[in-house]
Amino acid sequence: MTPPSGQPDAPILVVGAGPVGLALANLLGRHQVPCTLIDKHVTPHTQSRAIGLTPPSLRLFRRIGVAERMIEAGVTVTVARVYDDRGEAGALRFDDLPGEFPFILTLPQSDTVRILRDLLSASGNGTLLPGHELTGVSKGPGRVEAKVLVDRESARTIPASWLVGCDGRYSATREMAGFAYAHRFYKPSFVMADYADPTDWGAEARLFFTGRGSLEAFPLPGGSRRWVALLPPGGTDDPAGYLEQQVSRLAHVELRARPLSEPTTFRPERLLVRAFVSGRVLLAGDAAHVMSPIGGQGMNTGFGDASRLAPLLAGVYRGRLPEACFGLYARERRRVFRVACRRNASGMWLGTLTGSRVSGLRGSLLRQVLRRPEPTRRLALHFAMVTPRAALRCRDRLSSPARKRDLNVEIFSEIASEYSWMSGVLSLGRDAMWKRNLVRDLPGGGRPVCVDLACGNGDIAALLRERYPDAQITAVDITPAMLARARERLESKGVHCEQRDMMRTELPAGSVDIVTVGYGLRNAPDLRGALAEIARVLRPGGSLGVLEFSRYDSRFPAAIELLILRAWGRLWGWLRTRNVDTYGYIAESLAVFPQRRAFHALLDEYGFEIRSLRHGFLGFVEVLVGRKRGTGT
Ligand SMILES: Cc1cc2nc3c(=O)[nH]c(=O)nc-3n(C[C@H](O)[C@H](O)[C@H](O)COP(=O)(O)OP(=O)(O)OC[C@H]3O[C@@H](n4cnc5c(N)ncnc54)[C@H](O)[C@@H]3O)c2cc1C
Repeated sequence: MTPPSGQPDAPILVVGAGPVGLALANLLGRHQVPCTLIDKHVTPHTQSRAIGLTPPSLRLFRRIGVAERMIEAGVTVTVARVYDDRGEAGALRFDDLPGEFPFILTLPQSDTVRILRDLLSASGNGTLLPGHELTGVSKGPGRVEAKVLVDRESARTIPASWLVGCDGRYSATREMAGFAYAHRFYKPSFVMADYADPTDWGAEARLFFTGRGSLEAFPLPGGSRRWVALLPPGGTDDPAGYLEQQVSRLAHVELRARPLSEPTTFRPERLLVRAFVSGRVLLAGDAAHVMSPIGGQGMNTGFGDASRLAPLLAGVYRGRLPEACFGLYARERRRVFRVACRRNASGMWLGTLTGSRVSGLRGSLLRQVLRRPEPTRRLALHFAMVTPRAALRCRDRLSSPARKRDLNVEIFSEIASEYSWMSGVLSLGRDAMWKRNLVRDLPGGGRPVCVDLACGNGDIAALLRERYPDAQITAVDITPAMLARARERLESKGVHCEQRDMMRTELPAGSVDIVTVGYGLRNAPDLRGALAEIARVLRPGGSLGVLEFSRYDSRFPAAIELLILRAWGRLWGWLRTRNVDTYGYIAESLAVFPQRRAFHALLDEYGFEIRSLRHGFLGFVEVLVGRKRGTGT
């Protein structure tokens, strides 16, 4: 199957149909970018290898429509119990992680790969060529050529505009395209194997850190369990026997049945390429970086690469983004890797301390940490990779609607419990007044149908109820934790609360008299999409009430405004959550929001005439009521 006259089959060639290459191919399909995916093996690996899927990876899978299938096939782990020499030291809970996936999912890598392969073939979004081994790369101006050995027999050349090497730890792409990298092994070695689970621990993970060694146990689907033990310094001739002995000594569990697959011994390593991009060749996943499997972050970091790279490739392919944006990808991913790797390495170091005295100290430290809710919560966030430092800075995530939507859910889940009083603090006590003004400026009387979008804790919907006692009011928010708070205070007032994206309210066209949005338009994944949706649901003559930060039109005051808001938000983000982005997000999202005149012009474009306008807080905030053009009262 030779491509005609050296033309690319598809603009993008992905090398390696492992989890990362498959995720990338599926994501590219979602952006309608054709790609060819090659793998040297005819059939995929059957080993379980990576078993932990973190919430950020699940969000990616939700975007391509397979999160539910994965959750059905896997085990949702909501608690990891930690043991030391004295017994249970405490527990890490994942069930209050922010966002839609408050758990870590265990699913053998072979199942993850199978689901992603099925999706690719069902969607027809990419062409998978099994039995195609990359043997050479030549880079030319504006294109790249892959030399490929097909079924270990015949050679062929596949031209493409970009080649992405997702071919794993021993990446041929990395070697052949001349990527420089740093590599080293860590000292400890481990043995791991999966067994039918003889315990009654259910979906719990258990971690044992004792003077006699360390052991980890993770539930797997199909009633099995993964055991990982630290090997003694000199190694052992019988790793399987040693593992079973450690399980018996540390966990008091007898593994009588044979392991489900051959036990694997491994010595963790660290590898990081100096650049992720060389001409038109890019790297993702283990091809670009390898970290210790202890801590379970390697594959998840690779999924993060795919998630970041796909929209950039799509943008460059369509000519909407310059190729220089790949530099941003490289910088970000190196930073993310370093954070994940540091975390992995410190976790591994903690687990490799042996000897009764050091182990006693470690146990005391663990107990100190696990006794306190806030440090325990932070540790759980770290394990689940929803940590502020591992997350891309919010500025990086505002460029794509899907990523902005996820960012919103993450941030508002984190601050839901303090949102009410923090709105007061951040606005120096003005927030309540602005909201009152907004509702006061709406047209009076009647029994209007009202919808409060991005309702947060329900302040505006509650004021709507006071103003219109007989109105039919619906409050909508995308973040479950925020909506739960709104529900608590609003449902007794006859306000209906719905978890919905403001871009897709599912309300009938022309069915609403009043739409209100408090600080929500700036957060809309896509402002135009949100305005189009509001214009769709409002009847002609209906009102739109907006309370929003407002950007000055002139450059200098606008820059000062952002400077002040950035400093104010970041200060409070750091004070409250040790994550400057939590409230620094206000300034970052405002920086990509249209300036005042442009925003008003946009409202006009979507059919709204401005009826009243107030500014507050040195003009940083705007309270605006618009009327949808057309006949109506
Ligand atoms: C024992 C073990 C346990 C682990 N546990 C975890 C965990 O719990 N959580 C976690 O996040 N990570 C874990 N990892 C790491 C994880 O397995 C890897 O990070 C992950 O497999 C990387 O995916 P990838 O797609 O980048 O590469 P790979 O999975 O290695 O896939 C590369 C693909 O490229 C193909 N390929 C290779 N060379 C060529 C070539 N020349 N031409 C064409 N195709 C080629 C291969 O056939 C393969 O299909 C673990 C790793 C090990 C070894």
